[in-house]
Amino acid sequence: MNLATATIYELKDALEKQEITAVELVQFYLDRIKKHDGEVHAFLEVFDDAIHHAKAIDHARSKGEELGPLAGIPIAVKDNILVQDKIASAGSKILENHRAAYDATGIARLREAGAIFIGRTNCDEFAMGSSTENSAYGPSKNPWDTERVPGGSSGGSGAALAAGFCAAALGTETGGSVRQPASLCSLVGLKATYGRISRSGVVAMTSSLDHLSPFARTAEDAALLLEVMGGDDPLDATSVANESIIVPELLSKNIKGLKIGIPKEYFEKGLDKDVEKTVREAIKFLEGKGAEVHEVSLPHTEYALAVYYIIMPCEVSSNLARFDGIRYGLSVESTDLDTIYKQSRGQGFGEEPKRRIMIGTYALSSGYYDAYYKKALQVRTLIRRDFDEVFKEVDCVVAPVSPTTAWKIGEKAKDPLTMYLSDVYTISANLTALPAMAVPCGFVDGLPVGFQVIGKPFDELTLFKVGKAYQDEHDWHVRDPFAE
Ligand code: GLN
Repeated sequence: MNLATATIYELKDALEKQEITAVELVQFYLDRIKKHDGEVHAFLEVFDDAIHHAKAIDHARSKGEELGPLAGIPIAVKDNILVQDKIASAGSKILENHRAAYDATGIARLREAGAIFIGRTNCDEFAMGSSTENSAYGPSKNPWDTERVPGGSSGGSGAALAAGFCAAALGTETGGSVRQPASLCSLVGLKATYGRISRSGVVAMTSSLDHLSPFARTAEDAALLLEVMGGDDPLDATSVANESIIVPELLSKNIKGLKIGIPKEYFEKGLDKDVEKTVREAIKFLEGKGAEVHEVSLPHTEYALAVYYIIMPCEVSSNLARFDGIRYGLSVESTDLDTIYKQSRGQGFGEEPKRRIMIGTYALSSGYYDAYYKKALQVRTLIRRDFDEVFKEVDCVVAPVSPTTAWKIGEKAKDPLTMYLSDVYTISANLTALPAMAVPCGFVDGLPVGFQVIGKPFDELTLFKVGKAYQDEHDWHVRDPFAE
C-alpha cells in the first residue's frame, strides 16, 4: 500500500490489524511534508503534538480499549477552523497570533472519533478567493504542477491531501472553496446540505453560505467524515439533526435507473473544451452503469455570480466588523478609539477583504439596500426554484466544477473579476443550500479535472452512490504527484 495515497478505510484497516501504528503513519506524513512542503507550501504550521496524540492512540489500542471510527487517522485543518489552543489566523495578518479558545464542533467530533490533527493549512484571507493567492502568507502550489494554483480558498488543504501529507483534510465552502480545489487537485470534495455540519468554530465569512467541508480521496471516506462531523449542535442555530445516517457500508454502487440531469447552462461559453470532454466522458460512464441521463435547464444560472458577489460582501461587511483591534488579534496602540479601529483594520486586512467590506457596506447602505441586497435575495430564491423544478424530474444534477484546469500562479491575481468568474459552477449550490460533491474524473495535459453531483436537500446518499459507482472503476484519486 502506498501510504501517500491510501484512503481512510484502507488506513483504518491497516491500523486495526496492527500492520502499521499511528505513530508510524504520522511519521510517514511528517517525513513527506519535510521532503515536499517546501515546494508546495500547503501548511502554515505542522502541529508538534501530532506524534504525542498518535502515541496515545497506539497505547489505547495496545490495551484493547475501544477506539473511535477515526482512531489514528491524520487530518489537516484549514486555518479558519478553530482547533483549541492552536493559532487560527484565517490566512490573515489581523489574526496572525490569534489562538483558538475552543474546538470547532466538527473538530471536537473528529477528536472524539480519534482523529489526529497534523497541521493547519494555508488559505485565501478569510476564505476570500479561488487560488490561495490572497493569503497573507504567500500562495500554496498545486502538487500536480507547482507553477500552478491548487485552487481556493481551501487550497492548502487540497494541496496537502493531493501531496500525500495527510489522510483527509478539512476546508470551508462559501462558494465552492472545497469542490474547486478538490477538482483542481484530483480529490473528492463534499459540501453537505447547509445545516448538516455545524458552523460553530468556523471563522464566519458569509453566515448564510458558509459550510465546514471535508476533502477526501473517495466518496466513502467523505461519507464517513460527514457521519462523524454532522448532526445538530446547540452552538449553531441553523444546524439540523443527522437523521438519515449515512452508513458507508450501505452505499450501493448500483445507480441503475438513477435519473441524472445535465444542466445545459453549465456547458455553455467559458467552459474549456477539454474539460467539457472529460466531464462528458464521466457522464457517459455513469450512463453505462444504468443511469438515465436527461438534459435539464436551470435558467437563472446566469445571475448566480452577480447574486453571490452581492450577498457575500454584504455579510462579509457585517461579519468582519468584529475585527476591530479590541476583541481579537492585531491591535494598533493609540489613546483614541477611532484610531485603534482604523489603524488595526487598515494594517491587518489585506486588499481582498477590504474590497469586499467596502462593496458590502455600499450595497447595504440606505438607498442601495433595496436595489442590491434585497434584489439579490429575491433572485437567490429564483435560483433555488430552478433546482426545485428540476428535482421533480431527476434525482441529481451532474456538471463541471471549474471551467478550466489549474491556472498559473499570478495569471489572474491582478484581476479580481476574472478570478470571480472561475466560481461560476460552484456558487449555486451554496446559494441554494443543496448538497454537492466534486469527484475527480481525469487529467488534461497533466492537470486534474473533476465533475460535481448536486443533490436534493439532505440527499447526500445519492452523491456518495454516484461517486462510488464512478470511483470503483477509476483510479484518478489514488495517483501520486510525487511518484518516483
Ligand atoms: N471563490 C469564492 C470567493 O472568493 C468562494 C470562496 C469560498 O467558498 N470560501 O468568494
